[in-house]
Amino acid sequence: MSRLCLFKKMKVSKQAASDNNPEKILVQPYLYKLLPGTVGDRAGYVLRNASKVDSVKTRLLVSYNSFVPKTIRDWNALFIEYWQVEQVDNNIQNANSVDSFKARYKREYLKSPNPLYRLDFNGGNIHHTRLRLGLSHLRAHLFSHNLIDNPVCQFCNLEPETTDHYILRCPTYNNVRVRFLMDIANLLDPPYIASLDDNKIIKLFLYGDDGLNFETNKQIFSMAQTFLVDSKRFDMRVLR
Ligand SMILES: [Zn+2]
Repeated sequence: MSRLCLFKKMKVSKQAASDNNPEKILVQPYLYKLLPGTVGDRAGYVLRNASKVDSVKTRLLVSYNSFVPKTIRDWNALFIEYWQVEQVDNNIQNANSVDSFKARYKREYLKSPNPLYRLDFNGGNIHHTRLRLGLSHLRAHLFSHNLIDNPVCQFCNLEPETTDHYILRCPTYNNVRVRFLMDIANLLDPPYIASLDDNKIIKLFLYGDDGLNFETNKQIFSMAQTFLVDSKRFDMRVLR
């Protein structure tokens, strides 16, 4: 965790240095200069070549040279583990700041049991958990595991049945969705509600919000699980 956070700081600093943005540099140049480029910024050249720092031999660098390749492996593994996220721009590596990277890493990778994840409202916990893991019976999830040939929503045929489609758009669930959104609007401050976009609603639905207190998160979980149960999407009769 601390290794990955340092790595994130190095990446932020390297970007800041290349953007000529000195106030955003968080670590010493000798650290961020150890970072090799990414596929994106070095296309056509040797990729992720950590050995290019070999010319500066110091005692410190020997340990940092082992730090860099090891952390790059862990860093890239985050990407692979995170494959179930549907929006590419949602990758954890692209977190806006070191703090948001740290918060997301803690939330999504460290196994410290989040007490919210244990809450069950009318049997909704199992569906809530499966959605968080990308392992639900939604067709996009089944499709991503090669269990079915076609991810399109069988209820509306409009688009793949992703978590977003199910929670935000599928017309089949308009009634439960309106109730969920009204309950959320009654629970939270107007400025908070105004700040919500589709992506934030999905996150709030699945994970709650670290910035809100436990009691508020508990109510959000209750509302989300009420949606899941009342939509009947995961009833045994509906599963196919
Ligand atoms: Zn649909």
